[in-house]
Amino acid sequence: MSFYLPTLYKARKVPTKQVVCAICVERTRGRTEAVELGYGVRVHLCRGHASQEFMTQRGGRDFVLTLQRLWRAHDCLTVARSRALRRHLAACTGVEARPRPGSYTWPSLRREAEAEFAAGRPVKAVIAALRSLHADGAAVPPSIRTMRRWHSERRWLARAP
Ligand SMILES: [Zn+2]
Repeated sequence: MSFYLPTLYKARKVPTKQVVCAICVERTRGRTEAVELGYGVRVHLCRGHASQEFMTQRGGRDFVLTLQRLWRAHDCLTVARSRALRRHLAACTGVEARPRPGSYTWPSLRREAEAEFAAGRPVKAVIAALRSLHADGAAVPPSIRTMRRWHSERRWLARAP
């Protein structure tokens, strides 16, 4: 074939010791990281695509539409992935930022957890660390399920970085 077809086979400048950026693919440069979107959905992205700036631009539609089309191309747009994308849009528009009954109980703990999630720390580790920190306190910390919901609601996206 005389024209150029993108491929990862021996692609130049693409780091080989890590997963490529799901959006950059053969144009991946620099480090990539696993971004957790809730519902057990993870995607590997480069610094730029994993940045809050990119993930929230145009109300998150850039990010959501791009992943939706990619996942469709890979024929892996599952219910969980669709749900995670919808949740992402909601988080960007600030719908999730509205206080809900029951969320008042641990506002500072939630803030603390969200700051860790926003920094890209692994969900399991953050929840385990915060729960053990509050294990001996007077109040019973929220359930792991609740804390996982905090992560999937991604409220920090609607807030300024
Ligand atoms: Zn990228």
